[in-house]
Amino acid sequence: MNPIDRLTEAFEKFPGIGPRQARRFVQYLLSAAPGSRADIAEQIKALGANTAQCSSCYRWFPIGKQASNGARVGILCDICGDSHRDTATLFVVEKDADIDNVERSGFKGTYFVLGGTVPLAAEEPARHIRLRELQKRVAENKLGEIILGLSATTEGDHTRNILQEVLKDLGKKISSLGRGLSTGSELEYADPDTIASALSSRS
Ligand SMILES: [Zn+2]
Repeated sequence: MNPIDRLTEAFEKFPGIGPRQARRFVQYLLSAAPGSRADIAEQIKALGANTAQCSSCYRWFPIGKQASNGARVGILCDICGDSHRDTATLFVVEKDADIDNVERSGFKGTYFVLGGTVPLAAEEPARHIRLRELQKRVAENKLGEIILGLSATTEGDHTRNILQEVLKDLGKKISSLGRGLSTGSELEYADPDTIASALSSRS
């Protein structure tokens, strides 16, 4: 396969990117200065070397040079490693970007990144959905409440039902975000005030 088709195929694997958009990315890179192409390639390489996945909440976060040379197993992100956070409240989100947004709303508990939602048609959740990891985290930790912060979409609702089923025997209080998040909205795009009000009206 030629380099144009190969890179187009690689971009097509990105979430939400179709063949035409993938081709446009390649076109952009072809017309970009060689220096900026090399820079992007370098940044992709650095992404693996200078980041780690939190062993508690599963979000990806940047790490310093020293840490990147050592063991990365069991490493905690700045939120999970912060002793001032309310560790009794666990906020379950779909993806890393949701955390940034919830943080801006002033939430002071801890998080768990599920890894996505479960489509209605799916017979069983995809492997990247961390149901087992969530069960383990809930069973092992002294949690007072689990807040399900899923998108107000059909897939989000479906995923919420699955989580309630999976967590029901663990004897914890499970709540969902209240009104404020309009139908169809994703947590990633909600403004901090909306999230704060959805949090305070959770049930
Ligand atoms: Zn973490």
